Amino acid sequence: MDNARDIVAKRVLVTGGAGFLGSHLCEALLKRGNEVLCVDNYFTGRRANVAHLLEYRNFELMRHDVTFPIYVEVDEIYNLACPASPIHYQYDPVQTTKTSVHGAINMLGLAKRTGAKIFQASTSEVYGDPSQHPQTEEYWGNVNPIGPRSCYDEGKRCAETLFFDYHRQNNVRIKVIRIFNTYGPRMHPQDGRVVSNFIMQALKNEPITIFGDGLQTRSFCYVDDMIDGFQRLMATPDDVTGPINVGNPGEFTMIELAEKVIELTGSKSTLTRLPLPTDDPKQRRPDITKAREVLGWQPQTELAEGLKRTIAYFDALLTGSKQAGSA
Ligand code: NAD
Ligand code: UDP
Ligand code: UDP
Repeated sequence: MDNARDIVAKRVLVTGGAGFLGSHLCEALLKRGNEVLCVDNYFTGRRANVAHLLEYRNFELMRHDVTFPIYVEVDEIYNLACPASPIHYQYDPVQTTKTSVHGAINMLGLAKRTGAKIFQASTSEVYGDPSQHPQTEEYWGNVNPIGPRSCYDEGKRCAETLFFDYHRQNNVRIKVIRIFNTYGPRMHPQDGRVVSNFIMQALKNEPITIFGDGLQTRSFCYVDDMIDGFQRLMATPDDVTGPINVGNPGEFTMIELAEKVIELTGSKSTLTRLPLPTDDPKQRRPDITKAREVLGWQPQTELAEGLKRTIAYFDALLTGSKQAGSA
């Protein structure tokens, strides 16, 4: 599918396009022959993530903050702009809420004016610390509105509200996806997420930091599977709005993840305990019945395989920075 050109090339705007998921999405869209406008303020994204795309004639990179209006002519919008890891979204929580809420209003205003289809990168965090397990799209969630994670969770919930109101009020064509924890090459090595932390620690033979008792669970989806899910949802008929869960239902405790990373890296690291962050969800696993039925999607990449590819990426980063340091 990667090399196939779409019959009609589209002009596609990707906000947050220089980030982890955004850069993989831009690449997939370009490979299908689309014109891609990547918009990013480089808060957590990096130009290095998209440097290899500059050779595409159909690729344009623009520094812009989505909390401000933007006037461009496009056919499709993927709205991914928003810091995703707890340390980054809690660094400036007011800006995080503004990015989700004002960013959504601006992108929806743009979609309304141009008639573009618009995709929202929502999150499993809308379920908060869930009392239903696994989580279906019908579950309304269990979110603290005033805690340190609220800027992200409530910002994303409000963005979903805006998407559905623009759809009902202005007939904007919307596609809302709820992304569960996703990992892979181009994750920021210092963004504090568990997969990047554990791999970096293991590669450096440093202690692996288990928060709390390490028995909390997450379900990890490899990036290529996720990007395939994005494109399948965007290609659905207009009556498919979502929200739709996309993630890998394989569920692991953080101790199991640490053990797998140690095994795959052959690391000498040991486990060390740190306090559990406030409001850290105890368990998370997507019910992907809808994704299977509506998108014909299910994950293809086993955790061990995805981790191997991600370890190779971080290993190359570390080797590169060591060489740069000794040069
Ligand atoms: P990321 O931090 O790598 O990417 C986010 C991008 O948005 C970065 O390039 C950042 O610079 C940009 N950005 C942030 N604020 C902006 C603003 N105001 N204007 C313009 N650009 C801005 O994170 P990611 O993992 O690639 O996440 C992408 C999207 O997917 C986010 O919306 C996130 O909430 C969502 N998501 C990701 C995961 C995951 O596990 N990776 C899970 C659920 C949801
Ligand atoms: N907007 C934008 N680009 C456009 C159209 C609109 O950035 O091409 C922004 C603009 O800031 C506007 C917001 O989207 O305030 C919401 O647009 P809408 O048409 O819903 O509302 P209004 O223009 O009445 O505020
Ligand atoms: N976590 C951990 N050690 C780390 C980083 C995270 O044990 O070095 C835990 C964290 O407490 C959470 C899980 O791993 O329970 C996933 O954390 P992440 O920040 O990656 O994602 P989220 O909590 O947003 O799902």
